[in-house]
Amino acid sequence: MPHTVSPIWKNLPKNFLSRLEACVNTAHNEASQPKDVLIFFRADDVGVPSENFSRLISLFYRYKIPLSLAVVPVWLTHQRWDHLKALTGNIFSLWCWHQHGWCHVNHSGRGKKYEFGQSRSSSQIKADLKNGMERLKKIMGENFYPIFTPPWNRCDYNTIKQLKNLRYKAISRNSGDKPGNPEGIAEYNVNVDLHTRKENDPETGWENLFEELGQALANGLCGIMIHHQRMNDHAFIFIESLFQAFANKSGIKTVHLKELSEAKAGG
Ligand SMILES: [Zn+2]
Repeated sequence: MPHTVSPIWKNLPKNFLSRLEACVNTAHNEASQPKDVLIFFRADDVGVPSENFSRLISLFYRYKIPLSLAVVPVWLTHQRWDHLKALTGNIFSLWCWHQHGWCHVNHSGRGKKYEFGQSRSSSQIKADLKNGMERLKKIMGENFYPIFTPPWNRCDYNTIKQLKNLRYKAISRNSGDKPGNPEGIAEYNVNVDLHTRKENDPETGWENLFEELGQALANGLCGIMIHHQRMNDHAFIFIESLFQAFANKSGIKTVHLKELSEAKAGG
């Protein structure tokens, strides 16, 4: 799989720090009362150790920022898990390891990519979900938390129904994705895409990124999607700048998906 770097990361604009500060400060001033702005980071396509993965984990660890890790079950082995876990230090509460599909394969012949779409029967979808959950539980034990992030952020209604039957705690997709969620399963969606942006013109990409970030912060729940395989030095600097912009702001709180799920369950 080629891992292309989006054009916006080729360079950091000279004024990116002031634009970032302005974006976060506006949300901070408008929010805080009466509710905090909650931010979660979700790293997708996890399971294979790599230099970029180690670098990502050490960045989150250094700032003690919670991270939700979407693991592809088939990619994970006992040996890989030992390696990944060793990177994460001794603060287990910082990480929410959860399920990213089954083998991250597209089963949809044409159009948008789906691993969990209409080209699959109910029994196939159920089997893939169950196998994924069982494999991750077996390898990761209590570190696994039953939340489902579908590959390419999309799945069909049947999958949502099965998630409920199989007692997943929540789903995480793109904000506003179809189908809706008539089963009422808890949903914590990403609304900021850092590394799979398609804009060819970097400045358009930056404008759109700050627009997304501003809207997500204003809406009170900001989900930031990460693809570590597509990160370069600039992309790492930007995440660190985000941490610094969020630091010590009373109305802004970083959480992971398990914390969101358990806060909701607790009322
Ligand atoms: Zn993915």
